[in-house]
Amino acid sequence: MTELSHLPAWRLAELVAAREVSARELATLHLARIARADAALGAFLLVDEAGALGRADRIDAALARGEQPGPLAGVPLALKDIFVTRGIATTVASRILAGWIPPYDGTAVARLYAAGANLLGKLNMDEFAMGSSNENSSVKPCRNPWDLTRVPGGSSGGSAAAVAAGLCAGSLGTDTGGSIRQPAAFCGLVGMKPTYGRVSRYGVVAFASSLDQVGPMTRNVRDAALLLQAIAGHDPHDATSIDAPVPDYRAACERGARGLGGLKIGLPAEYFVDGGGINPEVERAVRAGIARLEDAGATVVPVSLPHTKYAVACYYLVATAEASSNLARYDGVRFGHRAEGTGSLLELYCKSRGEGFGPEVKRRIMLGTFALRSGHYDAYYRKAQQVRALIKRDFDEAFTQVDLIATPATPTAAFRLGEKAADPLAMYLADIFTISCNLAGLPGVSVPCGFTEAGLPIGLQLIAPPLCEEQLFTAAAAHELATDFHTRRPPELA
Ligand code: GLN
Repeated sequence: MTELSHLPAWRLAELVAAREVSARELATLHLARIARADAALGAFLLVDEAGALGRADRIDAALARGEQPGPLAGVPLALKDIFVTRGIATTVASRILAGWIPPYDGTAVARLYAAGANLLGKLNMDEFAMGSSNENSSVKPCRNPWDLTRVPGGSSGGSAAAVAAGLCAGSLGTDTGGSIRQPAAFCGLVGMKPTYGRVSRYGVVAFASSLDQVGPMTRNVRDAALLLQAIAGHDPHDATSIDAPVPDYRAACERGARGLGGLKIGLPAEYFVDGGGINPEVERAVRAGIARLEDAGATVVPVSLPHTKYAVACYYLVATAEASSNLARYDGVRFGHRAEGTGSLLELYCKSRGEGFGPEVKRRIMLGTFALRSGHYDAYYRKAQQVRALIKRDFDEAFTQVDLIATPATPTAAFRLGEKAADPLAMYLADIFTISCNLAGLPGVSVPCGFTEAGLPIGLQLIAPPLCEEQLFTAAAAHELATDFHTRRPPELA
C-alpha cells in the first residue's frame, strides 16, 4: 500500500471518516516529514504545529461523537502565504507584512475548515505573488523536490514543492498570470486556475485584482475537484465572485472514465510555432498528452488565437498598473513593518517602503505607476485594455468551434535557481502560455503529461470557456487514467 504521505487527499478523507486513521495521526506524520525534509526544500514559511494538532484533536473528537465528517475530514493541507488566516501570521513572503497576524480567515480558508480540513502551515511564494521561480521570496528560496538545483516555479512555488514532496496532501495557490499552473507543471502536479470569480478573493492578499484567482494544487485530478468543490461559489464579501451554482466536480471526474467521445479540442497554431521557444522534449510530451485525449475519443481541431503574441506585454501593463494601486496601502503606517527612525514622516514613509519591498515588487510598482501616469494612460493602460479585449475575443471565437483548448503549460521544464534571476524579461516569458487565460478570465488546468530525460515533470494545459471547469475535470481525469505520472514520486528527502 502507498504510504499515507502519498495517498490521495480523497482517500485520506475516507480513512479518517471511517476512523481507520485519525486526523492526529495524519497531522503528526506530516509534521514529522516537514521537520525532516523542509530544511532542504524551503517550502514552509510557518509550521503551525500546535494549531494543527489542536485542530486534529477537535476533528477526531467530533467524529467520535458521531458528527458527520466533512468531505476533507482530517486532510492535512498547507496554504500559500497569501491566504489570510486568523491567528496565523500572513506575510506574502514580504518584509512589509512581517509580524501581521490577521484577525479573520479568508473565505476559501473558512470553507476548507468547514469541510473538515486541517491546516499545517503557510507556504513560501514569490513576494506578493510576483514571479515565476519563488526566487523573489524575501525569506528564502524554495527548491524543486525533483531536482534541488532547480526552481519549483512560482509564484506558488512552496505549495507545489510541499505537495509534490508529500509534506501535505494538497494546497491552494493563487494564479494571476500562471502561478498555479506553472509551478504545478514544474513539480508534476495538477493545478487549476478556475474561472475568474468562481472562488472568492476575500481574505486573499491582492496582487492584480482583475486577474487574481484562487485554485487547488494536488497530486491527482480528483483531489483538485475535491478542493475546488469545497471553496467554490458565491461570496457576498467579494463583489466579483460569481453567483452561479457549483456543479458536482467529482461526478465530472468520474465521467472521464467513460471517454471523451464527441469532445472537440482546439490546438492553437500560435502556441506551437517553430522557434517559439518551446523546448522539444516539452513539445513531444505535450503532443503525447494530446494523443491520449484523442485515444480517449476526443477530436483535435486546429484553431487560431491571433493576438497571443501581445499577451505578455498586455499582462505586464495590466498587472503592474493594478499592483501599483493595490500596494499603495502598504505605507508602513497601517500594516506591518515600521521603519526605525526619528526623521520626518515623509522620510519614515520612504524608508519603510524602501526596506519593506523587495526589488521585483518595487519594479512592478514603478512600472505600474508609469503606465497609469496622466499623459501615459492612453498609450499604455488603455491600449493594454483594448488588447485584452481582443485576446478574450480570440478565445470566444475559438470556443464556437471547440470545447477545450490544449497547449503546453510552460515552454520548458523547471529551470535552475539563478538561471533567470538577473533577467526579468526572461523570467516573464516563463508564463507565456498561461497568461492569456487570466487576461480572458478563463479556467485552465495543468496536468502531468510526461517527464524530460533528466526526470523533470512536464505539464499539459487545458483551457475551457467560462464556468466550464467540469469539462476540464472530465478531460483531465480521462488523461490521468491513461498514465501513471501522478503515481511517481520525487526522491525522498533525508
Ligand atoms: N509570473 C507572473 C508574474 O510574475 C504571474 C504571477 C502570478 O500568477 N501570481 O506576474
